[in-house]
Amino acid sequence: MPEQTDSLLEEALQALEAASDAAALQVWRTGYLGRKGQVSELMKLISTLPKEERPAFGQAANELKRTLETAFEARQEALAREELAGELAAEGLDVTLPGRPIGPGHLHITTQTLRQNYAIFAEMGFQVYESPDVETDELNFGLLNMPPHHPARDMWDTFWISDEIVLRTHTSPGQIRVMRERHPEPIRVILPGKCYRYEQITARSEHQFYQVEGLAVGHGITMTDLIGTLTEFARRLYGPERRIRIRGSYFPFTEPSIEADMDCILCLGEGCRVCKQSGWLEIGGAGMVHPVVLQNGGYDPEEWSGFAFGLGVERPAMLKYEIDDIRLFYGNDLRFLRQF
Ligand SMILES: [Zn+2]
Repeated sequence: MPEQTDSLLEEALQALEAASDAAALQVWRTGYLGRKGQVSELMKLISTLPKEERPAFGQAANELKRTLETAFEARQEALAREELAGELAAEGLDVTLPGRPIGPGHLHITTQTLRQNYAIFAEMGFQVYESPDVETDELNFGLLNMPPHHPARDMWDTFWISDEIVLRTHTSPGQIRVMRERHPEPIRVILPGKCYRYEQITARSEHQFYQVEGLAVGHGITMTDLIGTLTEFARRLYGPERRIRIRGSYFPFTEPSIEADMDCILCLGEGCRVCKQSGWLEIGGAGMVHPVVLQNGGYDPEEWSGFAFGLGVERPAMLKYEIDDIRLFYGNDLRFLRQF
């Protein structure tokens, strides 16, 4: 019986050597190793043998099968290598060709908007002051005149990290930080940064967004300075003909508090869909720094006064570029981002 396996092995290896492409290899595989191939047929003979010869025959047949499988894989690899070498030789491989260029990126629309703000405020003497996104409850609320259980805390849906730590709901905690760092010097800073609110994400609202907070502390600073600053900002950003309207408002950390509107840049005050027919667009909340907040920052409210304001970043950009969905800003869709 070993003669049978030996002759089959020899024949199969010769045929394998002769198989010179993938199709021929498959024919060979089916013919020898397939379910009805020659090796299977050989194995069927085992039942016709006398009992004592069966183990030796079975062993020889299995060995044959393994040998042929290994030879098949080796031949397959060799053919693949030959094929690749042939292709390279035919097409030529120029290793000196430059790689595919990666184009330069550009600034995100939010970054561009922020930098416009920085430039305008820098010309008015405001420095940029950065403060952390993760804040203590005390800085985000308590020192801004909202002690625990103060009802005004409900104005902000808050992400709590622990009982004491929050993702800042506004950039205002930076006011306390900069006052404590700079006192008793006068202050003129903007505090740009991301804010976080536990809110449903829709086309109109995101759970993270940018604010640019402004703070000025000095001797004899009045509401007139605040209104003048906001007016100047709006005119530099949206054109010298802009008009500003002031309405009374409420924030726990300013007294008195205001909301500032400017005449609608789309309809020039006539009334349109964007300004809801009012002719006015809200640009931000502001007010005179509350005496308690000044005190918490280390300034004596008898001697010092100041104003603070908070401006949006994404919303004005939406107006300017007619973007109708705020979720596009941080959706990482290059088709959107490349437009700016
Ligand atoms: Zn309008």
